[in-house]
This record gives sequence, C-alpha cells and structure tokens, in this order.
Amino acid sequence: MTPAQILSQLKKFGIPFKEYKDWKNHNRNHKGKWGPVHGLMVHHTGSNNKDQRALLYDGYSTLPGPLCHFGLDQDGTIHMIGWGRANHAGSGDDDVLDAVIAEKDIPHDNESNTDGNARFYGVEIWYSGSQKMSDAQYKTLQLLSAAVLDFHGWNEQSVIGHGEWGSPGKWDPGYTPGKMMDMDDVRKDIKATLAKGKPSTPSKPTPSKPKPVPAFPGRGYFRPGARNKYVTQLGQQLVKKGYGHFYRVGPGPSWTNVDRSAVRAFQRAHRELAGDADGYPGPLTWTMLFS
Ligand SMILES: [Zn+2]
Repeated sequence: MTPAQILSQLKKFGIPFKEYKDWKNHNRNHKGKWGPVHGLMVHHTGSNNKDQRALLYDGYSTLPGPLCHFGLDQDGTIHMIGWGRANHAGSGDDDVLDAVIAEKDIPHDNESNTDGNARFYGVEIWYSGSQKMSDAQYKTLQLLSAAVLDFHGWNEQSVIGHGEWGSPGKWDPGYTPGKMMDMDDVRKDIKATLAKGKPSTPSKPTPSKPKPVPAFPGRGYFRPGARNKYVTQLGQQLVKKGYGHFYRVGPGPSWTNVDRSAVRAFQRAHRELAGDADGYPGPLTWTMLFS
C-alpha cells in the first residue's frame, strides 16, 4: 500500500487516526529491503505511557526508528508513525513466513533466520502486555486488521503476534506477565470483523448529475430519545459511506449510541470535523456525509 492507500482504508473502515510528523517518508529503506509485504504483525510496547509517538518515531540508539507503522493508543486511535521498512519484527522463522504467505495455520516458531522488517506491517499497541489491552484498542486492532486484509485480499491468517514470529524472548501481544494472547482467538475475531465490516463494493459510477445534499433538519433530531426519519436517513448514509460495521441491526429511526459512534468515526476521519468529533451531527457533518 502507498500512504494514500492506507489512509483511504482507515477511512473506509471508520478507524480514528492521526498523522505524526513526516510519517509518509519516515522509514529505514536505506538500510535494507522493504516488501513484498505478506502480513500484519501485532506488538505491545511494554509501557502504559499515554503518549508513545516520539519513542516509536525516533527509536533509540541501539534500535533507530521508526519502530512500527501504526501506534495504537489507549483510546483506540491509530497514530501513523512511519511507512516503509521499520524496526519492529527482527529476525524470525521462515516456516512461519511461508505459512503466512500460504495463509495456513501458523507453525510453532523454532528459528530466527528471516528478516521480518521487510515482510510485515507492524502495529505497536500502547500497553505493557502484563495486563489486557483496552477494549478500544482491541476494537481498533480488529478494524485495522480488516482494513489491511481487505486491501490486499488476504485472510485472517496473515495477522500474527510478534511472539509467534521466532524472535527469542518475545511474547507480544501479552495479557498477563510473560504470556501471549491466544492469537487463534484473535484471528477468529478478525475473520468475523472482516466478514461483518467489509463495506459493500461501491456501485459503478453513473453519468447522471450528483444528487443534491438534503437540507440539514436541525440538531434537535439527533439527541438521546429522538425517533424520526432523519435518524434513519443519517444511518443509511453512514452505511453507504462505509460505516455499516457499527450497526449490528438497523439503522432505524431511534437515535442510539451506535448512531453516535458511527457519526463520531466519520467526524474523526475528516480533518474539518475531527476537532469537534462529539458524535452529534451538525450542518457541516451532515453536508460532508451527503456529498
Ligand atoms: Zn514486538
């Protein structure tokens, strides 16, 4: 993927994200190969600090940055850190890489003979690994995986934990001291997220003139307890724009937290709206949603 392509995938899946410094040009391509890429590798940073962007971007003297492509903070926001070769995977097991390429069950790793930094996108989740990641982080991990898999046409077997890769001593992503999450369970959830969240393919563009944007009915129609046709109209448009994975049922006429979450994701994905992403549509959100 190019930087523009990953951003468009993040938007397509309603993933909140922020861009850090010159991430699009920040990589270690001058030090080694980058690509072909075969999968996404999941890490914990080993720290619960609130802001880990600088460390992931700069790295440290013995391990220069970028240390990943995606930083995933506690509230579920993705921070874009680098694009290209990054120091996150180290050496691992060629049998694991072969399984990822073939999308077969991941074998137990027992050697470190293959450069992973050329082969994997990497997400560093901001938590110690000695406790569970936050629910928001887990949700975004699911959506990020789905966004990457959707672009490449891969299945859930293309997502592995660093602890499965064959780098000695690694157990990330962890859930309790020294123990890695059951990645087969994580992959099952990713499979379900991908199946549910995959936005329908857009229909062929028609040469007819674009539909006019309907008038914004007013903020009072989108409040807890509200029930009206505009809530349905809003929900249907959110589904059209790729936010359908928020809705297990519906959309319908009653304003719910699901509508609010979908609106907030849409707002966060658009720079003009991100500053006031409260999940309640105003005239600008409405206009952008229907344009
Ligand atoms: Zn790691």
